[in-house]
Amino acid sequence: MWVGRERIVTSTTDLAVRPLHLLTEEEPRGVDLHAAESAAHDLLVALGADLSGESLADTPARVARMYAELLTPSPFDPTTFPNDGGYDELVVARDIPFYSLCEHHLLPFIGVAHVAYLPGDRIIGLSKLARVVESFARAMQVQERLTTQVAAWLQRELSPKGVGVVLEAEHLCMSLRGVQKAGATTVTSALHGAVRDDPRTRQEFLALTQRSSRA
Ligand SMILES: [Zn+2]
Repeated sequence: MWVGRERIVTSTTDLAVRPLHLLTEEEPRGVDLHAAESAAHDLLVALGADLSGESLADTPARVARMYAELLTPSPFDPTTFPNDGGYDELVVARDIPFYSLCEHHLLPFIGVAHVAYLPGDRIIGLSKLARVVESFARAMQVQERLTTQVAAWLQRELSPKGVGVVLEAEHLCMSLRGVQKAGATTVTSALHGAVRDDPRTRQEFLALTQRSSRA
């Protein structure tokens, strides 16, 4: 399916510039349930499973539906509002839990996101910051891309004075297999505008995210 790093990078760019309402209204994003069930059947057999018993008989269909669910964002209305009050300090949503699927192993990576923006003319409901993370997480992902997609979406939808996104996650492909480092956390960040360039704002954002991770 992946013909090389180049292809992945290209599709990433497409996703990052597509309005989220188009992204989220797609019915399972490219999931062919019938083909997935058939392929899950073949994979299970190849792994030595005996599908003749009652317990495993429906496993291929369950696996297909599970992946469809994990790969399909829930639609939401990303409404923004005018910043009538002229609020000009950081808005920070900390410790937003998220679950995503590592595209290299199809194992989950699990963690929290800290999402902040410095408002310009528009603000967005706080719950939407969590919905944006969830939407982009429901895909075959790498943590770096998930981070940049959330930041790029906020930058585009709100045209804020700055954006900061930090993700901390444990990758089960690192914990369960390979190097088997349970509890190791990968941290990624994407900073734009004043959150990147203004030392005071940058420091404020990073201090807020670090305080939460020590708690
Ligand atoms: Zn992995």
